Amino acid sequence: MGAAATRPDVTVTSTPEGTSTPEGAGDIGRISDEMRLLLVEDDEALAGVVRRGLAEEGYAVDHAADLVDARHALAEQTYDLAIVDLGLPDGDGLALCREVRESGRTVPVMVLTARDGLSDKVAGLDAGADDYLTKPFDFPELTARIRALLRRPARVHAPVLEVDDVRLDPASRRVWRGAVAVPLTPREFALLEYLMRHAGTVVSRSELYDHVWSADYDGLSNVVDVHIANIRRKLAVTGADDPLVTVRGVGYRIGDPA
Ligand code: CA
Repeated sequence: MGAAATRPDVTVTSTPEGTSTPEGAGDIGRISDEMRLLLVEDDEALAGVVRRGLAEEGYAVDHAADLVDARHALAEQTYDLAIVDLGLPDGDGLALCREVRESGRTVPVMVLTARDGLSDKVAGLDAGADDYLTKPFDFPELTARIRALLRRPARVHAPVLEVDDVRLDPASRRVWRGAVAVPLTPREFALLEYLMRHAGTVVSRSELYDHVWSADYDGLSNVVDVHIANIRRKLAVTGADDPLVTVRGVGYRIGDPA
């Protein structure tokens, strides 16, 4: 055990009441440049081992033993990574993964679970997890995967675009209408992203074309319109009004006029 494991100021317990802040835990200089992780795990013995080990690696680790605690911690604190067990006393960790993604938060999520079936892994990744590690695991593999996830700066920093009830995460390349995930093809995604980055202004067909198709594209002349029609059809999933406005003879706009 290194010195870090015995320092109470390095590992900070989750504070469900929101009564203390990380700064209040002491040693501000060290904490400010640490990576802060949230460990959601109801097995106290395992949580203790993981916390101590990660603290030795220099991470600040908050611990939540159930979904309620985890939701509170995520609402109170910005984390660099969340490690989430699936079998929790008050529900399934996958629900937490979905909530994190649907809220537009960019925190990477690693699922840590005894469920090792392929369908479990697929379900975890589909729910928005960035990685999946099955128990029992070797600690060096856990820390290597954590380092890999923390190296993805785009995911951590890219802001989610939001216009009305349409949200688009450029880093994870996911789109939601309200709470419903909307799968788009890469071209559809690029078109919608461009429109959302210029929300409130009319973007011409030729501008959209230039930004989404390569110069040597030799296909349909109405390719932009065809893709816009597909995006509209997919965004209609919730039955809410069409967020895209056609400006005749000019192009398209999303959002109220700027
Ligand atoms: Ca568990």
